[in-house]
Amino acid sequence: MAPSLLAMTCAEMERLAVELDLPGYRGRQLFAAIFAKNRRQFAEMTTLPRPIRDQLASRFELDRPTVEARQLSADGSRKYRLQAKDGARFEAVYLPEVAAGRKTNTLCVSSQSGCSLGCAFCFTASLKRHRNLHASEIVGQLMVVRDDLEALGPEAQVSNVVFMGMGEPLLNFAEVVQSARILMDGSGLGYAPRRVTVSTAGVVPRLADLGRALPVQVAISLNATTDAVRDRIMPINRKWPLATLIDALRHYPLPHRRRFTIEYVLLDGVNDSLDDARRLPKLLAGIPVKVNLLPLNAHPRTSLASPPAARVAAFQTELRRAGMNAIVRTARGRDIAAACGQLGDEALTPAGAADVRG
Ligand code: SF4
Repeated sequence: MAPSLLAMTCAEMERLAVELDLPGYRGRQLFAAIFAKNRRQFAEMTTLPRPIRDQLASRFELDRPTVEARQLSADGSRKYRLQAKDGARFEAVYLPEVAAGRKTNTLCVSSQSGCSLGCAFCFTASLKRHRNLHASEIVGQLMVVRDDLEALGPEAQVSNVVFMGMGEPLLNFAEVVQSARILMDGSGLGYAPRRVTVSTAGVVPRLADLGRALPVQVAISLNATTDAVRDRIMPINRKWPLATLIDALRHYPLPHRRRFTIEYVLLDGVNDSLDDARRLPKLLAGIPVKVNLLPLNAHPRTSLASPPAARVAAFQTELRRAGMNAIVRTARGRDIAAACGQLGDEALTPAGAADVRG
C-alpha cells in the first residue's frame, strides 16, 4: 500500500519535498493543500505544478476512511462507523454542546479498532482488539467528519478533539502522538494543545512519555477508589495499581495552569458509595484535577447499572464538600449508542462482558 500523506506533519512534507529534489516550500504547500484547504485529490492542488502532482499521485495516497454508517441523535450528536481499506472498523462521534454559554463541538476519535483492556462497563471491550489505527486513519476521522458537517454551515466545526473513542490511546503510542502533532500543526488544522485531549485507562509507563512528547490535555479513566474494585472493573489495574498510577500523575510534567481530567463512571452498588466519594479526594490530594462523573450508559453487553440520580448527586456533593471541582456529565448521543462506553458494532463479535458486582 502506498504511504498516506495524511500521516505526515508539515516538517516531514518539507523534508519529503527535498528528497524529491523540490524546494522545501513545495512541502509546505502540499501540507496546506491537504489540511488547510481540504483538497481531497492531487488534481485539486492547483498551488502545485502538474508534474509535481503527478509525481506525488504515483507514490502516495490521500485516502480517508469510508463512512459505512452514520447515525444522528436527537441531541445533535452524530456517530460515524468508519471502515479502513483492510476492512477494520472503528467509530468517531461528533458531540455539539453549549456549556457555560460557550459552544464546544467535540470530536471523539478512536485509536484502535476494538480494545484489549476489558473494562467491565464498556461495550468496546466486548469486541476485543482488532488492530491499532494508523495516524492517517486517526486524522482521517476528523477529515471525513469535517466534510460531513459542511452541510450544516459554518457553526458546525470541530473545536476540540478527544482521544476517547474505541481503544486505549497509549497502547498505540507512536501513531497517537503523530496524529496529535498533525492536528496541532499550525500550517494546517492548527488545534491548540488545550483543545486536544488524550485519555488513558492508566498505561503507566507511557504516561511520562506522553508528557514529554505532547502538551495536550490528559484524562484518566479512574472509576474506583480501591484496588479491589478497580481490579474487578478495569483489569489493567492488576498490572498498574492505583498507587502506581497516582504516583505517575504526581510526577507528570503537567503544563502550567493545567489540570488532569479524572473520568469516573458511576456504577450502581460498585463504586458509588459515600466512602468512595470520601476516599477520592484523599487519593488525589495535591494533584490538580477536575472530576467528571459519568453515570453508566447502559448497553446490551453489561449487567452493570447506573446509580439512582439521588446517589449521583450525593456523590458529587461529597466531592464538592472536600473542595473538588466535580461535575456530572450529561450523556450525549445515548439514543444512537454514541455515549461514553457504548462504542462498537453489535453485529461484529459475540457478547463477552462480565458481571463484576462483588
Ligand atoms: S473503556 Fe476504553 S480502555 Fe476500557 S475497554 Fe473501553 S475502550 Fe478500552
